[in-house]
Amino acid sequence: MRCPTCELTIMLDQPVDDPDAIVLRCKTCGGFWFGAGTLTSVLAVAVKGLKVLDTAEDTDLVCPECLKPLYRLTYPQTLVRVDMCGRCDGLWLDAGELKEIKMVRQHLAETGRLSIFAPGPGVKAALLRLIDATISSAFGDTADRPRPRR
Ligand SMILES: [Zn+2]
Ligand SMILES: [Zn+2]
Repeated sequence: MRCPTCELTIMLDQPVDDPDAIVLRCKTCGGFWFGAGTLTSVLAVAVKGLKVLDTAEDTDLVCPECLKPLYRLTYPQTLVRVDMCGRCDGLWLDAGELKEIKMVRQHLAETGRLSIFAPGPGVKAALLRLIDATISSAFGDTADRPRPRR
């Protein structure tokens, strides 16, 4: 599958802990694609619920799977925007967006405020856990990794 930003670069698999999650990474721009159906299988709830995260706005990017326009949501507690396909629910994070989420999380951890980020029940929490797991996997940091919940 080609990167929605670079368009010509084929994205490669990014291993994550969850066997149901399909995460691809673009080696050129460093962005991540959370594949269609990944959110549904990981969240085990109707992905439609994600649309309450924020008011969506249109983007110029196009879904690499179904070629529909992506729309933009705000990652909770940050100013970071993530791009999502309204048809297949694939999710795109560019490298700058991922690093910004990581920096905010690190700052919260250092100042003892990461607990307000702690995943609770629900759709939003499951999305945060998936993004967290991917950040840890991609950048190899464990300092701000949430404790296992099982
Ligand atoms: Zn790219
Ligand atoms: Zn799509």
